[in-house]
Amino acid sequence: MKGRSESSGFLFAGTPLTPHFLFASIYRNKHCPACLRILVRNYSSEDPMHKIQNWIDGQDLDSSEGAWLENRNPHNDEVINLVTNSTSADVDTAVAAAKSAQPEWAGMTPVARGQLLGAIVSEMRNSARELANCVAMETGKPPQDAAGEVGGAILQGDYFAGEGMRLYGRSLTSGMTDKHSHTVRQPRGVAGLIVPANTPIANIAWKTFPALICGNSVVMKAAEDSPGIADLFAKITKRAGLPDGVFNVVHGLGNPAGQRLVEHQDIDVISFTGSTQVGRMIAQTAGQRLARVSVELGGKNPIVVCDDADLNEAAKWVVLSAFSNAGQRCASGSLIVVFDTIYDEFREVLLAATAELTLGVHEGASLGPVINRRQQENIFSALELAKEAGGNILCGGSAPTDSELTAGYYVQPTLVDGLSNDADMVAQELFGPVASVHRVHNIQEALDFCNAGSYGLTSAIHTTNVDRAMWFAQRVKAGVANVNMGTYGSEPHMPFGGFGASGNGTREPGIEALDVYSELKNISFLVRSNLVT
Ligand code: NAD
Repeated sequence: MKGRSESSGFLFAGTPLTPHFLFASIYRNKHCPACLRILVRNYSSEDPMHKIQNWIDGQDLDSSEGAWLENRNPHNDEVINLVTNSTSADVDTAVAAAKSAQPEWAGMTPVARGQLLGAIVSEMRNSARELANCVAMETGKPPQDAAGEVGGAILQGDYFAGEGMRLYGRSLTSGMTDKHSHTVRQPRGVAGLIVPANTPIANIAWKTFPALICGNSVVMKAAEDSPGIADLFAKITKRAGLPDGVFNVVHGLGNPAGQRLVEHQDIDVISFTGSTQVGRMIAQTAGQRLARVSVELGGKNPIVVCDDADLNEAAKWVVLSAFSNAGQRCASGSLIVVFDTIYDEFREVLLAATAELTLGVHEGASLGPVINRRQQENIFSALELAKEAGGNILCGGSAPTDSELTAGYYVQPTLVDGLSNDADMVAQELFGPVASVHRVHNIQEALDFCNAGSYGLTSAIHTTNVDRAMWFAQRVKAGVANVNMGTYGSEPHMPFGGFGASGNGTREPGIEALDVYSELKNISFLVRSNLVT
């Protein structure tokens, strides 16, 4: 089977035009500041709009240039608030604050740091409704999903607060008589954390708690589309008693704000969650100065439905995997791989389950809009190209027509079949409620299809045959392999991360996250037996 490469359609500056150019430009526009939907404007200081400033050394601070970005509600396109647009100099100020606060933070015992994280978690619990409302407003997530995300972030905090009483090292044997060795974890220094908007409070918790428990201070570059939640979290850390300067937030564009963080000599570890395209640049830049880098990147996640699967159950999981959070999950199930003998029957079951979904931001809605207008347009352009490549739109394929949804960035849940295995939509992550359905003859062909892509984040298989399930799970090229479930990620104590273009081999969260944020030291003692009296 021909391999699929996530980068087959990407074109970087200076690359000659190819037939892929149109598709490539759809993706590339996401990362070009000039093409961003948010406008940089100089608002007057009397403007009544709510303004979000940087959070540096325990204080709100405007960017040094006084420029603002608009943050819009994805449900109705209205401006929610204005966000300070940080310059490189603003990032430098935040890094200096973090650097100065770090030694005292690292000097506290891990148990005391854990207790402070526990206080942050308590404040999050007290503010859970406010946090969920903010997530819902900024991302367009239905309320129950926003509340679920806040609950997940709180659990993440619980787990790493408890780590203050563990932070285990290893006790080691030695070939030398009377030598005793053990390992300890020590902080890296200042952690630069860069997050996307898709699950904003979960992303913040996922990185901040392990970074802090290890004794690092933090400068976080918030996502452009979810600045409010980062601001709320910052204020929570202050109320909980975290010393000023230990947690700082800068807002603004990927370049310059994120870029400066990656380049800064005083940033000792960079942890980035976002697209593979940006992750590659970050790994290269930070790698140059030998900073530790963790990049958690995109996914093109397959769900295999075998001929012995419970089709209703499989359809339920496919729908959840493909369309929850409007498909904006790195683990989104976007490749549905179905055995030939049940293909037609399963397609009908899947279409019926998809038809049940409701769009909107009301309680109980199945999915909301995508995060911004640019992303909505990317998806529609990619669907046009998929049609030209021979794809049949089985359902969805356009914006909903209901009057209350037309102003927002909605995309109907969309299923496409008939695409060849090397079509662009099959190779590249779309990050929206779109999945393609593929026919295979047997388990070997299913595995070959799953492993032909360049990503390797999550995978799932539906079967009642335990041998087949185990055979597949052992061989599939993915950091997560789920049997009779969806392409869902981990719980706070489970490692999550991908093979191939989905990351650089690190795992967050779980105990493995400690490897990202700490240095390991091996300490040895020689007992001088002759001196023992
Ligand atoms: P993105 O890469 O465009 O942006 C992510 C963050 O990086 C934003 O804060 C952005 O401002 C910043 N950024 C952009 N350019 C930068 C640069 N040159 N230097 C430093 N920072 C820069 O990603 P996105 O579209 O916002 O998010 C969606 C992507 O995130 C998808 O690919 C998705 O799969 C991935 N994701 C991965 C995981 C995971 O755990 N593997 C989880 C969630 C999302």
